[in-house]
Amino acid sequence: MNYTIEKMEKSNILLKTKLYYLHILVIIFASTFLLITTGCENVKKEKKKEKEIIVKTDTLTQVKQNDTSVNIYLTFDDGPYLSTLALANTLIKENVKSSFFVIGSQITASTYYDSVFNTIKKNALFKTYNHTFSHAVTHGRIEKYYQYPVNVWNDIIKNKQYLDSQCNITRLPGTNAWRFQDSIKCYCNKSKLLFKYLDTIHSNELMFGWDFEWTGKESRSITLVDHFYEKISKRIEDNKSKEKNYVILLHDYLFKNEVALNNLSYFISLLKKNGNTEFKWANEYPGMQ
Ligand SMILES: [Zn+2]
Repeated sequence: MNYTIEKMEKSNILLKTKLYYLHILVIIFASTFLLITTGCENVKKEKKKEKEIIVKTDTLTQVKQNDTSVNIYLTFDDGPYLSTLALANTLIKENVKSSFFVIGSQITASTYYDSVFNTIKKNALFKTYNHTFSHAVTHGRIEKYYQYPVNVWNDIIKNKQYLDSQCNITRLPGTNAWRFQDSIKCYCNKSKLLFKYLDTIHSNELMFGWDFEWTGKESRSITLVDHFYEKISKRIEDNKSKEKNYVILLHDYLFKNEVALNNLSYFISLLKKNGNTEFKWANEYPGMQ
């Protein structure tokens, strides 16, 4: 009997010891698993971050306390175009500073386009900036364009001659990228090689991206202009303590008719509704001087 009890006790101790070690093993296994998976998640997050456009830092555009003013940068790409002068008249009527990102190959396309460019350039309300000479000869070739950063840089330099300008602000075709004066860069994969190259040649070229894009649907529907404005004002409201500069990308060719031009006037009137809105040129953006 005693022998059996002793044996049972021994077996109990053995079982407890086994359970104890099993418990330790489970803890070690669970911690290792957790470490590995968290690590993987972080790596995944890092990789995802790499692919995305890195959001501009707000250190450049810090908002002072109680400052409720908002700076809007209306930027028009891909001109000169057939609709550029009518568009310019609307902007003159609204009396808003506007930035035109011009393509050199468009200027050279006809004497008419050349005269349109000169009209814009002479107007004190407008400023012209670089949008490369070739505009990457789009139609699916944009990825290839960015594989040769030296060629992209030459395309930018070539356009400077047509713009006849010392300004070093460029908007890259087909990609939203920022390169500020104080070495802060925000880019997506497309422009990565170019940015590396610009660093190696110590280029002081600045790249101007955008925050919102007027896609063209807004040119046709006033309801969509309301939605577009709501999206912008929501962002302004959400970020009011951090950011006061908002760049809007539009294209000259999206203002071909009266409806589109009226919708643009309406959009500008919505932006003006907040009495603290100021319209500015690209070179007035913090870090772009
Ligand atoms: Zn463009």
